[in-house]
Amino acid sequence: MNGNGTSQTKLKVVLIGDAAVGKTSLSVRSYCTRSLYVDNKKIMFQIWDTAGTERFKSIVPFYLRDADVAIVAYDITERNTFENINQWLRLLQESAPETIKCALVGNKCDLLEKRQVTTQEAHTFADEHGLYFLETSAKTGQNIQQLFMDIGSIFVGGL
Ligand code: GDP
Ligand code: MG
Repeated sequence: MNGNGTSQTKLKVVLIGDAAVGKTSLSVRSYCTRSLYVDNKKIMFQIWDTAGTERFKSIVPFYLRDADVAIVAYDITERNTFENINQWLRLLQESAPETIKCALVGNKCDLLEKRQVTTQEAHTFADEHGLYFLETSAKTGQNIQQLFMDIGSIFVGGL
């Protein structure tokens, strides 16, 4: 508890997913959302961007070791990035703590005319795997604040 009668929680959030899905753009966008109040609790987000090209040789597992949240991102306009989600989930199983919370994020939702993965399909996939799901745009900022509010709520116990 601090002097205002509110408690503070720090969450380490690691962004993973294929190259070019928008991880760096999402993390830069997230800087304006670094701390939030959820139910009078201050949540500080520590956001870690990763590079996705050589995932199995890379140091991504090192970042995941003590992560609280993994944001697994794909690009709604590139179907293969959605199909690779299973590999990212496997990496999480191998490298992340069992307690990690995982959010599936379909990024680039501003590019509706190029969409290759429907919202319904991704929702179904997320439900089957027990993942929170949201579509975002790092370009317009759509749902970025919502994403972090919801992640915060998951930890405060609301969602
Ligand atoms: P990363 O490799 O996953 O870190 O992806 P980047 O953040 O570098 O983004 C790859 C490309 O996609 C860049 O040209 C970004 O400007 C673009 N991009 C990222 N997010 C969005 C988005 O939400 N909408 C659109 N239209 N482009 C995006
Ligand atoms: Mg990047």
